[in-house]
Amino acid sequence: MTDIPTILRAILDTVGQSADRGQVADYIPELASVDPAHFGLSVVLADGSQHSVGDAAVPFSIQSVSKVFALALALGRLGDRLWTRVGREPSGLAFNSILQLEHEKGKPRNPFINAGAIVVTDAVLAGHAPREYLGELLRFIRAAAEDDDIHINEDVARSETETGHRNFALAHFMRGHGNLQNPPELTLGAYFHQCAVEMSCDQLARAGRFLMGAPDAPRLVSPDRVRRINALMMSCGHYDGSGEFAYRVGLPGKSGVGGGILVIAPGRASIAVWSPGLNLQGNSKLGTEAVEMLARRTGWSVFG
Ligand code: GLU
Repeated sequence: MTDIPTILRAILDTVGQSADRGQVADYIPELASVDPAHFGLSVVLADGSQHSVGDAAVPFSIQSVSKVFALALALGRLGDRLWTRVGREPSGLAFNSILQLEHEKGKPRNPFINAGAIVVTDAVLAGHAPREYLGELLRFIRAAAEDDDIHINEDVARSETETGHRNFALAHFMRGHGNLQNPPELTLGAYFHQCAVEMSCDQLARAGRFLMGAPDAPRLVSPDRVRRINALMMSCGHYDGSGEFAYRVGLPGKSGVGGGILVIAPGRASIAVWSPGLNLQGNSKLGTEAVEMLARRTGWSVFG
């Protein structure tokens, strides 16, 4: 195995320079203006050392990567009771699909598709003001990253509030089935702000340490729960591209439409990559290629 800085440099010089960068998400207007030329990659190793290349210090909208932190909070708050409201199966459908909800009486397939994440946010919100939930979420993320300089981008949250009609449809449908405790506007206000958290790859890789079991990482979640969150990231973290990601990369990961991916090599590394252009499943195109190359060069895989 070559050393990590050499591998990261090789990834930046090949994948990072690729001309075919995918499409930047434009259904949230504020994200449409992000420059697709960005590429950042950061790796925190079990010994606590961190190695980064490219735009790893540039903040981006973490979007659905936030669902990992929200799930950790929800499991801490509700434990296994959460699973009465949301399942643990891959959906095989787009991130914002409403199709399965009708068959399954308003119970979303998993906590990482939009419908499932909206239920998770609703469960933690549970009658509190969105401001309190967001404060708790930010405290969790800042503690995980050991970095108080992590914020919510209000412009991105407003942009999605104005255009997030599909998420409103999902929320109202679930409320109709009795699977949303709070008024949809309230839950979605919290959800849109949660998705608008901004972090750099450097910060996100540090925030992911609690999922890799790093000896010196903040102990935010029990080891048993860490394994379960990783299992869900592996089976459901990339929407209808989850099987493909598991096949190509072999590590649990969670993507967001901002072009970021958090990837965990249990016991070895917490990895954050960012390239804003997406593939057809709404996952970062070059980000996936980058972690595929990283996994191949290092031999990191949960499959031996
Ligand atoms: N805020 C986005 C939405 O709800 C998140 C989707 C994603 O990052 O995949 O549509």
